[in-house]
Amino acid sequence: MTLIDIFDPKARPTPIGIDLGTTNSLVARVRDGKPFVIDDCNGERLVPSVVHYDARGGTTVGHAAKRLAQAHPRETIVSVKRFMGRGADDPETRRLGPYEFMAPSTPEEAKSVRFQVRGRAVTPVEVSAELLKELRTSAERELRSVGPAVITVPAYFDDAQRQATKDAGRLAGLEVLRLLNEPTAAALAYGLDKQQNGLFAVYDLGGGTFDITVLLLDDGVFQVKSTGGDSALGGDDMDRALAGRLLAEMGVEGATEPEVVRLALDLARDVKHRLTESPAVEVEIPVAGSADATRQITVTRDEFDALVAPIVERTGVACRRALRDAGVQASELTGVILVGGSTRVPFVRSYVARIFGKEPLGDIDPDEVVALGAAIQADILAGSQERADEVLLLDVLPLSLGLETMGGVAEKILPRNTTIPTGARQTFTTYADNQTGFDLHIVQGEREMASDCRSLARFTLKGIPPMPAGLARLEVTFRVDADGLLSVTAKELTTGVEQKVEVKPSYGLTDEQVEEMLLAALDHGEEDLEQRRLVEGRVEADRVLLATRKALAADADLLEAGERERVEEAMTALEQAMKGTRAGVLQRRIEALDEATHGWAGRRMDRAVARAIAGRQVEDLESEVAHSKGVDQHVAEHRANAGGGG
Ligand code: ADP
Ligand code: MG
Repeated sequence: MTLIDIFDPKARPTPIGIDLGTTNSLVARVRDGKPFVIDDCNGERLVPSVVHYDARGGTTVGHAAKRLAQAHPRETIVSVKRFMGRGADDPETRRLGPYEFMAPSTPEEAKSVRFQVRGRAVTPVEVSAELLKELRTSAERELRSVGPAVITVPAYFDDAQRQATKDAGRLAGLEVLRLLNEPTAAALAYGLDKQQNGLFAVYDLGGGTFDITVLLLDDGVFQVKSTGGDSALGGDDMDRALAGRLLAEMGVEGATEPEVVRLALDLARDVKHRLTESPAVEVEIPVAGSADATRQITVTRDEFDALVAPIVERTGVACRRALRDAGVQASELTGVILVGGSTRVPFVRSYVARIFGKEPLGDIDPDEVVALGAAIQADILAGSQERADEVLLLDVLPLSLGLETMGGVAEKILPRNTTIPTGARQTFTTYADNQTGFDLHIVQGEREMASDCRSLARFTLKGIPPMPAGLARLEVTFRVDADGLLSVTAKELTTGVEQKVEVKPSYGLTDEQVEEMLLAALDHGEEDLEQRRLVEGRVEADRVLLATRKALAADADLLEAGERERVEEAMTALEQAMKGTRAGVLQRRIEALDEATHGWAGRRMDRAVARAIAGRQVEDLESEVAHSKGVDQHVAEHRANAGGGG
């Protein structure tokens, strides 16, 4: 009997979830309310994240590509995820693998790394699209009609990395419903959204990366409370440690010949996987100096544990830090979830239990858990399943977003760990008279000075009519959407002139860089703050001095006996303090000048009112008076960088 597939033409395409991993990728779907991983044509679930480019311009993806990697290292791209969202002149990329890169010839090209493969330029987005196409093909084989996709990304992925992932999805012909954080996907797979409220730690140890995330579940709403990790720590390190031991057994300790090292690494990975099941395994190793003689040795789990302990213990530092960032104690956690192939290693499981003080959840295959969660999310978003308990997913910003203001200070508009989607608005005013443009510089990072933060974008809001300093009102709105992408709108309120930029930064940040930036901010915290106060103090002092000089030119006749001397003394002292480096002194001198001009300012105000009655506009004069007092009338506002346009 022949079975004929009959499908309902009205049936909706099936939404899919994709885990686009550094080492392995996979695709899953929901059937009858339960998620399943979709096999490829060979019945394999994991597709190695490897793409090989052949001489005829074709590509091979997955296991077959992995086998070609050894013979064609430059034509075979592995771990492309590490290159996502990175700029062409990013020095980090040179250290990642044996690749050649194309030099950029336009600023547009400089926005992305381009591999030079057989004379052709290939971007990480294109490589990832090949992986996604492969997964889409597997899904099509099973589903016929593939619906929209949810693709997972690490929680620390920044704007550029998320944008690149979305672009790869579109390039692969997928409708990308949403990017979802990997740890959140894992929590969904465990059904934690339905079970209980609480705090969860997601411990993800993959092939070459370690990520730790603290999630808060509050009435079906997930929030990422903190993220951390190490972008150069994973199962590969275990392979290397064990390979070192095997090389010693072969009598070629410290060998560097690529074929020998490769063989030892392959043997090591195989031993590692078998040790997950058994307490001791036997392995045939070649004997040095003899072409085909082999020797059998036994590796016990205890020996293996001793070798990998220093590697695994490195994850503890990041775990404690993530707990601290989230402001929680390990004992407050409701559960710990294991993700990533390397969490199969029994020693890793016991270590995790030890540092968090409870047995971790690990009964869903840690390789599959992220893809399964992505499928559940896709299913919910596509509305193919009626669910009363709709899951809303919230994530947090890994680094603060802000604007450079006068004197190069970084004003944080959206602080780090703010839950997204989010938005914030702040009003700025002009610093110089007749300024017709505002230069806006958007930065990301924790340091107090903009030059120490990462530059995301610059733009100029033009077309503002000339106005006295302080009168133009610039409203800047930052908005971060559910995918973590930032858009910035600037609007001059008195004229309604408006401009919006979508921030697609040219550089990606790795979690390593995020970590570095955070550490630097901690290390420099006090210096930074002093530096910031000093810079702000100088800007303020400049303004106060300028306003006082203007007032002296206009209303010196209102000064009483001895008052002029006191004002001038205070001005000289302030000028002196501006040359120094002590913010506290500067602040006190500003206050002293304010004090010295206080009575005079009152008299100037009376005169201004009298003049206004005589027909002039009172606001103009009030504003002048306020300046001369050294007290900014826009107390709650901040001065935008008064650069160009003016
Ligand atoms: P990624 O998230 O980086 O794509 P994976 O989660 O797929 O990575 O993890 C891959 C790593 O898991 C590899 O180092 C692999 O050797 C390791 N791994 C897979 N299965 C096992 C096992 N049974 N025992 C020990 N390690 C394993
Ligand atoms: Mg993974």
